[in-house]
Amino acid sequence: MYLRLVTRLFFNTDKRLLWKLFYNMGIKGAISVQKHKRRMKKGDYFPPFLYISVINSCNLRCQGCWVDVSHKQQRIEPEAFHRMVNESKAEGNVFFGIVGGEPFMHNDLLDMLAEHPDCYFQIFTNGHFITPEIAQRMRKLGNITPLISVEGNEIISDERRGKAGVYDKTLNGIQNCLDQKLFTGVCTSLCQSNIDDLLNEAWVDRLIKMGVAYTWFHIYRPMGPQASPELSLSPEQQLRARKFVVNMRVKKPIIIVDAYFDGEGQALCPAVTGVTHHINPWGDIEPCPIIQFSTDSIHEEGRTMKEKINGSEFLKGFRELAADTTRGCIVLERPDLLAALVEKHQAKDVTARKTALAELQAMTIRTSQYNPAEQVPEKSWAVRIAKKFFFSDFGVYNGKDHSTASAPAMLKENSSTQSSLDTPNKLVELETNPH
Ligand code: SF4
Repeated sequence: MYLRLVTRLFFNTDKRLLWKLFYNMGIKGAISVQKHKRRMKKGDYFPPFLYISVINSCNLRCQGCWVDVSHKQQRIEPEAFHRMVNESKAEGNVFFGIVGGEPFMHNDLLDMLAEHPDCYFQIFTNGHFITPEIAQRMRKLGNITPLISVEGNEIISDERRGKAGVYDKTLNGIQNCLDQKLFTGVCTSLCQSNIDDLLNEAWVDRLIKMGVAYTWFHIYRPMGPQASPELSLSPEQQLRARKFVVNMRVKKPIIIVDAYFDGEGQALCPAVTGVTHHINPWGDIEPCPIIQFSTDSIHEEGRTMKEKINGSEFLKGFRELAADTTRGCIVLERPDLLAALVEKHQAKDVTARKTALAELQAMTIRTSQYNPAEQVPEKSWAVRIAKKFFFSDFGVYNGKDHSTASAPAMLKENSSTQSSLDTPNKLVELETNPH
């Protein structure tokens, strides 16, 4: 299977782009992770993989979107972008995730990325603005991988993304990338309305036939003002998704990415391991894209990115609280504890809508990727090696006891309170006042 995978990548992707991927992302990316691990040993934190929302605007209106897409447009301007990237490069960073809103609505995007040929950029996009000309430009630059989101078939895509004709426009964008032999990825946020359509071999086979190099199955997060919590997956469905990914990795000649498990199948949060943090369009430094609270900004003068991130008591407090509470997603499992942390550090609600704290306090406590009863180790030796050296928990959960505060533990403890999980923060009352 690995030979089929390598052969496919070799013949479907421009060779110069494959070299950029191998060298910028592979070699230098791996070195940046080793630097992160060495920094952690000294108690220093600077994430090797920063995710940057370059703009809030988007042409779609997705269920569960936490970005203020319909608010007044806010962009990361070229000068601020270059300063941030250069300060991050000084710490050994080369890889940057470019998110939004819809990044291609930022007219200077490709000009900004062109200034950093020594880096590698993964652009999370709905594909609607990727014309043949834009795809050609990305090929010329060579340091970009487009990761295009498909959220269901024609009907479900329109429903999930709040516009008509979404699916065809997205497939068109994908095809324009493949025609230019770009290292192209397709991702999906798995939820109730698309899991049966997309979490299957037929869809993976279709991606392979199209020439797509990699895929990524995210797990839906019920966030933002239109959270649609009914779309969230059950623990059983999340386990099904995990098993599917592990099995397809040894069966299908396509790369399948995930950011929530180590090689042994232990759950982790990449913001807790410090491997990533997020910058929103207003320049606020957040633990991750869905935690829209901050005490630090890239626009603040007099301190470098390293000093801001390493010196942030809020980010440190977040990593410690989440590591103490669960190996999973603290936003899903204990939004109550996260809300308390936000208030403790007086972290600013950095959304335009200014309702993030109320949304967090209204969230239902639910399970996430952490399922201690059902750990699914990797079957692929290649993935096990890659995760062993470049994507583990870096020891942040060592000695931590998750048998009380995590959602699975509370489920187990209060199985009779199953119904209470359906009401906001109900369990907190139980926990703080068990009698
Ligand atoms: S807090 Fe949750 S959504 Fe954010 S990085 Fe961690 S697991 Fe992912």
